[in-house]
Amino acid sequence: GKYESVGLVVGVTGIVGNSLAEILPLHDTPGGPWKVYGVSRRPLCSWSPSPVPAFEHIQCDISDPDDTLEKLAPLTDVTHIFYVSWAARPTEAENCAVNSAMLRNVLSVVLPNAPNLQHVCLQTGRKHYFGAFEFLGKEIREPPFTEDMARLNSPNFYYDLEDILFDELSKRDGAVSWSVHRPTTIFGFSPYSLMNIIGTLCVYAAICKHEGSLLRWPGSRITWEGFSDISDADLIAEHQIWASVDPYAKNEAFNCSNGDVFKWKQLWQILAEQFGVDYAGYEGEENRVKLEDVMKGKEGVWEEIVAKYDLVPTKLDEVAAWWFADVVLGVEIEHLDSMNKSKEHGFLGFRNTDFRRIYAKNNLL
Ligand code: NAD
Repeated sequence: GKYESVGLVVGVTGIVGNSLAEILPLHDTPGGPWKVYGVSRRPLCSWSPSPVPAFEHIQCDISDPDDTLEKLAPLTDVTHIFYVSWAARPTEAENCAVNSAMLRNVLSVVLPNAPNLQHVCLQTGRKHYFGAFEFLGKEIREPPFTEDMARLNSPNFYYDLEDILFDELSKRDGAVSWSVHRPTTIFGFSPYSLMNIIGTLCVYAAICKHEGSLLRWPGSRITWEGFSDISDADLIAEHQIWASVDPYAKNEAFNCSNGDVFKWKQLWQILAEQFGVDYAGYEGEENRVKLEDVMKGKEGVWEEIVAKYDLVPTKLDEVAAWWFADVVLGVEIEHLDSMNKSKEHGFLGFRNTDFRRIYAKNNLL
């Protein structure tokens, strides 16, 4: 046929799904030429970076078994699944239930209907090592995290997803391989992501600029001063594509981070410079603010900014996840991972955590 591989990206409008949708169709992508199906719950939005997507979009609610069967059973030519999706619920018990059902729905439909399926990439994350949001930091492994560390004792939907993956693939007797990818906080572009730290902070800075207020640091001392690492969305996509086609990457879990370190206080200064606002750093525990509090009721301000700069109309809660920034920046642990396993298995990819380039790619104004 015309294509060497057929990828099914589940969560194509998300922060890594968007990168996969951009990279897979390129002429020099390993395993290619790729045909790409991209699944998301909502229609593609008008401000997607690639207005004419080089993939076939499938609108499907994967939490609904009937919709999943109807939309995904006909995709009999799929060779690779990239599962980059999740749904957020208030408790981890609910996260486990809904996210398990979503992955189970997809695999139980695609596995029996796609005879050429070769590999499934599952994206989870670093909370594998320090706990789900509800239990964050209560019990943690000692950083730098390595993939062989034992699971924590608290419930975690990442563990359930791994177990469902292994269970479903066992029905195909080892014919379909897998890889698990564990990024940390992701820097990337997505019009529809539940957790987009850079997008959220740019919206915060834009509001500070508009109101003439100080860009205050809403985090902990350790996150302000200590070393941090991040995961570039395009790098995660490259890592998943590598695991899909390289025989040395099969049936393994891998950390996936940029491979360098930075300090949030450096990024904070650049963010302030780029938006032309004054900033404050860590001001002591007693003065610590939460973005959820300081950004409460700013919906109208965002509407003014959208009108003033003639932006694509969005609601504030679509472009900013204050709770997420509060968690990422407020965490009291210095957590880094090791990329040695990826390197030892042949993945030498990395990203220079270069804020000015990242800022340019995510520029909202
Ligand atoms: P995201 O929120 O950016 O995108 C989710 C995608 O899934 C969207 O395309 C959405 O349409 C789709 N989706 C959600 N519910 C759906 C449904 N019912 N039916 C069909 N499609 C649906 O996702 P993400 O942030 O890449 O998250 C994927 C995994 O990565 C999660 O396990 C997450 O915890 C993990 N992770 C994310 C980050 C981050 O900074 N965003 C960091 C580390 C780990």
